[in-house]
Amino acid sequence: MKSDLALHGGTPVRPRMLPYARQIVDEEDRNAVLEVLGSDWLTTGPAVERFEKALAETLGAPEVVVVSNGTAALHAAVHAAGIGPGDEVVVPALTFVASANAVVFAGGKPVFADVDSKSLSLDPESVKQRLTDRTKAIIAVDYAGQPCRYDELVPLAKSRGLTLIADACHALGGSHGGRKVGTLADLSTFSFHPAKHITTAEGGAISTADPEAARRMRRFRNHGIDSDLRSREAKGTFAYQMVDLGYNYRLSDLQCALGISQLKKLGAWVEKRRQLARLYDTALASMDFVEPVEQRLDESSYHLYIVQLRLDRLSVDRDVIHQALRAEGIGANVHYMPVHLHEYYRKNHGTRAGDCPVAEKAYPRLLSLPLFPGMQSSDVEDVVTALAKVGRAYRAP
Ligand SMILES: *Cc1c(COP(=O)(O)O)cnc(C)c1O
Repeated sequence: MKSDLALHGGTPVRPRMLPYARQIVDEEDRNAVLEVLGSDWLTTGPAVERFEKALAETLGAPEVVVVSNGTAALHAAVHAAGIGPGDEVVVPALTFVASANAVVFAGGKPVFADVDSKSLSLDPESVKQRLTDRTKAIIAVDYAGQPCRYDELVPLAKSRGLTLIADACHALGGSHGGRKVGTLADLSTFSFHPAKHITTAEGGAISTADPEAARRMRRFRNHGIDSDLRSREAKGTFAYQMVDLGYNYRLSDLQCALGISQLKKLGAWVEKRRQLARLYDTALASMDFVEPVEQRLDESSYHLYIVQLRLDRLSVDRDVIHQALRAEGIGANVHYMPVHLHEYYRKNHGTRAGDCPVAEKAYPRLLSLPLFPGMQSSDVEDVVTALAKVGRAYRAP
């Protein structure tokens, strides 16, 4: 059976690799970008405000600030929360490094909390155990697209006077308890990287109901300066004040125009992701060596379809399964190595193995299967066929 595997010279399920994610950019998107390219404002122009308004409407959030990427969005949110040296921020261990790095950018200390073993998203009980007198904020990451347990996190943050930041980079278009992602926390951050729900090539945003936080973040993305070029032009003045230390985290008008055009498709794309996830759910139910991470079809916007392998039923580890799937033409991926196990955090923040046992136990079992709105049901069938083939060949004796 092993000789059937493409890894050992057999015929692959697919001759060409199915990637784990891929953007859709159509003619309307291209035209929107070209139109801005011929206009007076390539950046700090009117498309920025238009994109912010369109996002605010989609999210049902009073204020949206767009920035140059999702990492900048987290940095801006941490800045708006007033995080500085000595402050602790609770962050889940199982996330992209940027969720924790943003706290370090501001001079704060990320404190890693563990995740729930079924959904692999932030466990509110673990958050409680990490709170100290120095805790100023919680960053909740909507892992894979499933919103965290905000019904528990919101009252917890309120009772301790903490800012709740949602890293919703996986969850654009999702909801929880009938409320939209983007309105569930004090500040919610988004990414428009091509692997995410909509893309501006690179891009990010923060939503909030707090107009003062929005003002702080608009300044922060423009060097901490209290006005922008277009408003000074309109007033015929050159003078400005830099009132904070900020960065150049602006999103160009080209990117905002692409974002406006992409955003129109968000609803259909989330629906398509859910349809594909349902196909996976059904097909994988009879495969005893995979356990899909718990996500709700009515809440998650399914950025990722993640399974945990039952290693006791397999004769090889996850890395071999991953390689075997890739050889079959299935671009599986892994999200993520727990952040506290990265060399940087071990060396500079004293983190170590054992800090977050649930996340650490999950990591060697994790596999993300291809999921993007351009996929067909036949692509899901290929993934399932390849997974079954590899699982059969490497069945534990
Ligand atoms: C993508 C992502 C980010 C960072 O977004 P960029 O746009 O790549 O900077 C942050 N957090 C999570 C959970 C992400 O998935």
